Amino acid sequence: MRYVSTRGQAPELSFEEAMLTGLARDGGLYVPASVPALPEDEIAAMAGQPYEEVAYRVMRPFVGEAFSDAQFRTLIDAAYGGFGHAARAPLVQLGAGHHLLELFHGPTLAFKDFAMQIIGQMFEAALTRSGSRVTIVGATSGDTGSAAIEAFRGLAAVDVFILYPHGRISEVQRRQMTTPTDDNVHALAVDGDFDDCQALVKDMFNDFDFRDGVALAGVNSINWGRVLAQVVYFFTSAVSLGAPHRPVSFTVPTGNFGDIYAGSIARAMGLPIERLVVATNRNDILHRTLESGAYVKEGVHPTISPSMDIQVSSNFERALFDAYGRDGAAVAGQMSELRDSGGFRISQGAYEGLKEIYGSDRVSEEETSATIKQALAETGELLCPHSAVGVAVAERHLDPSVPMITLATAHPAKFPDAVEDATGVRPPLPSRMADLYERPERVTRVPGELAPIQEIIRERIAS
Ligand SMILES: *Cc1c(COP(=O)(O)O)cnc(C)c1O
Repeated sequence: MRYVSTRGQAPELSFEEAMLTGLARDGGLYVPASVPALPEDEIAAMAGQPYEEVAYRVMRPFVGEAFSDAQFRTLIDAAYGGFGHAARAPLVQLGAGHHLLELFHGPTLAFKDFAMQIIGQMFEAALTRSGSRVTIVGATSGDTGSAAIEAFRGLAAVDVFILYPHGRISEVQRRQMTTPTDDNVHALAVDGDFDDCQALVKDMFNDFDFRDGVALAGVNSINWGRVLAQVVYFFTSAVSLGAPHRPVSFTVPTGNFGDIYAGSIARAMGLPIERLVVATNRNDILHRTLESGAYVKEGVHPTISPSMDIQVSSNFERALFDAYGRDGAAVAGQMSELRDSGGFRISQGAYEGLKEIYGSDRVSEEETSATIKQALAETGELLCPHSAVGVAVAERHLDPSVPMITLATAHPAKFPDAVEDATGVRPPLPSRMADLYERPERVTRVPGELAPIQEIIRERIAS
């Protein structure tokens, strides 16, 4: 299996190379040269299988020569063994035709653990074999960073630096990044917002001297390995509701478009997904784009669902690449328009292609709180604010003939203030992490500028 860049100007890579590289050298994102289809009987045979078994069957064709069959199974088992639920991704019913996929039973209580835990295992295996080291640098709006730190802490071949926007993430998110004591973990609090952090990471990747000098590797949501790991739970959940014999739809609380894009890969592999519905908070660039065909940047507004507070959505480039019939030059053109003038208009054909797969809607802060309150009253389920955005949108898009699965992306205890404001109930942390508020914190405050951050990274990895 070979991987190509969405901008068509970077070398083709193997799975292992694409995973270790992250962003392509032409600024694009890696995607598989073609998506393997799974025959209907193979999808049907996933019913009743453990999560790890489905993970193996879904991901194996994409991984190619990187790992032997037996080793890949071992990595998958190690990745999900630390989850707090035997089903890994349990599905619960909210109402007629509406189901909630709980993706928050991993070590940092957000869906990002599904991808990050297996990425950590795959990095370690690949680097140990080649005897090399990498420096992982990532930007986070809260959940990616904690999941990355949890997945890479203590590994010998990796230093991990996470940039987060100072003062703009929840206390639980912050503490999950600042309390690990491992020497290879470095939390950097940046003066700026998430998009500033993301832009700084992009600039580091585009500075080839720095990139090669520190052996930079990325595990942000653009990393193909992460997208791939997220394809799995679209299969486990759909199959448990009767796929491939019965179609399903998904609503996905969306920021960087990684999670929902994984749904489109599942669909391309043959899973009968009727609609993929993008749910946004008031940072609604994706909803506006899918409504109008114009992708236009606006400022970021802080919300009670901060992991979706974004101005640009990096994985959307992959969906554009598909919509443009995999024309890298067309995508590169749109991305340079975005850089130069803050937006672009999608061609009519590509726009129609997107509309065939994706629906979208936006939820206000008040509706988000009201949804948390209502779900607790009607179902006993405590939703985090991101999941509530999804549930609110899904309820507007229910279709009696097609079950809807809404992705619950974080545990309510990760956002206790918003949940308590909405319901009067303060969600407790699971007992396995109950002492989080007592552990000492370790963090470096940095300005939102490239040079001083690069300096800190060089110094830390040299010592
Ligand atoms: C990251 C995150 C999202 C958004 O996911 P994308 O893949 O960036 O679209 C939604 N909810 C939570 C809790 C998250 O951590």
